[in-house]
Amino acid sequence: MADKFDVIVIGAGPGGYVAAIRAAQLGLKTACVEKWVNKEGKTVHGGTCLNVGCIPSKALLESSHKFVEARDHFAEVGINVGDVSADIPKMLEFKNQVIAKNVGGISALFKANGVTALEGAGKVLSSKQVEVSKDGDKAVYEAEHIVIASGSVPVEIPPTPLTEGLIVDSTGALEFEETPKRLGVIGAGVIGLELGSVWSRLGSEVTVLEAMDSFLPMVDSAIAKETQKLLKKQGLDIKMGARVTGSETNGKEVTVKYTDAKGEQEQVFDKLIVCVGRRPYTQGLLGEDAGVKLDERGFIFVDDQCRTSVPGVYAIGDCVRGPMLAHKASEEGVMVADIIAGHKAEMNYDAIPSVIYTSPEVAWVGITEQDAKAAGIEIKTGSFPFSANGRALANHASEGMAKIIADAETDRILGMHIVGQHAGELIAQGVIAMEFGSSAEDLALTCYAHPTTAEAVHEAALAVDGHAIHMA
Ligand code: FAD
Repeated sequence: MADKFDVIVIGAGPGGYVAAIRAAQLGLKTACVEKWVNKEGKTVHGGTCLNVGCIPSKALLESSHKFVEARDHFAEVGINVGDVSADIPKMLEFKNQVIAKNVGGISALFKANGVTALEGAGKVLSSKQVEVSKDGDKAVYEAEHIVIASGSVPVEIPPTPLTEGLIVDSTGALEFEETPKRLGVIGAGVIGLELGSVWSRLGSEVTVLEAMDSFLPMVDSAIAKETQKLLKKQGLDIKMGARVTGSETNGKEVTVKYTDAKGEQEQVFDKLIVCVGRRPYTQGLLGEDAGVKLDERGFIFVDDQCRTSVPGVYAIGDCVRGPMLAHKASEEGVMVADIIAGHKAEMNYDAIPSVIYTSPEVAWVGITEQDAKAAGIEIKTGSFPFSANGRALANHASEGMAKIIADAETDRILGMHIVGQHAGELIAQGVIAMEFGSSAEDLALTCYAHPTTAEAVHEAALAVDGHAIHMA
């Protein structure tokens, strides 16, 4: 007789581990299957996010940011530190320690909450059975409910096949042992800009090749324009409308061929990072008669509450539609666990924030001004520059702006877009405001602590009706 669980979760990334913990907290007998093995051969929890995604990239972004601050900006505020140098192996060591702490934390949380951690590759069979295989051994478990959280992997493109040490994906770009002199990045999306920023700060000459003509089209165009200007000032050479057509390697460097408005081009790099997006990962996951359907793009097909085509089987996170973000995966995990436990639960997909952790950060939630125009929604907007915010000036971080988009008739906030220091923290205001159905006036009438950069959001809300205080 197979071991039986109320819930078996496949995948222990931020979708799966959160679903498993929440299910266990709700009194359900829960197991979580994970097949990720680290370099030491140990099964590790946390998925892409903790091992090769959000957490390691932020460790390197923060270390490289501190380096640039110390080298280029401390003296401007009266701190003399002498020669500043970057110790890349030490930075990587710190990043690895951060990964280990986070990963260990999840395993401890599983223990504390009574989640059974199963090691190996999970496969969904028919009749709600899950096969777990590791090193040739196989075991079959039964579950009342299955939650698939198998995540995603980087997309590869034929013109630039990954080549050991020369052409790498985002995972490889977190491991460079020294700063490449000439670094190419294919893709000016979130991950490309973050990784490009890390290595640019550490001394690389970075060229970003982006096939699309518009920069960050998902961000309000005023904020995107400001961001492009700021990143250019930092030395990132972002080439828009540059379609990569091929590459050649000679063991030491990579020649990339691309076409742009001027015709055929080529450029030589010491390393090339391919950051053109991620695709759902479902390899080996579904048995022949599992019955779980995929959509035309390979995502597991789910409804608004993450139910798949098979009753009792759910799927969440990067392997289903929607933004590929850790917090979206986690919220879906909580929703699904609540539904399985018999509670009413749903997610507001209109209020999921996104952040690009460049310096300054870019953060947004909801629609852009261009979205509103395209959809024929009458809006009013309010913007406020950080250069007029006292705290930003005192922080020596006065670049950027905040912008609020509100419905012209009801004043309800439809979107908030920010580029500026700590934008990723500030955007939580927009998310909460939208969750609560707030108007711009609600934010305008709220008392903000002074001096804070959050006051830029307050002033943007005041500006929606033309009454920002600190603007001429
Ligand atoms: P994953 O984290 O991919 O986890 C899936 C897990 O399932 C993996 O551990 C995998 O081994 C396991 N698995 C798959 N198949 C099986 C199977 N058959 N059996 C057992 N286990 C299986 N998002 C943000 O929100 N903020 C960020 O700042 C951010 N930065 C990023 C930076 C980089 C460089 C990258 C690559 C991604 C970043 N992301 C960020 C995206 C984020 O990592 C993903 O959205 C998130 O990890 C998705 O969570 P998930 O649980 O759906 O999948």
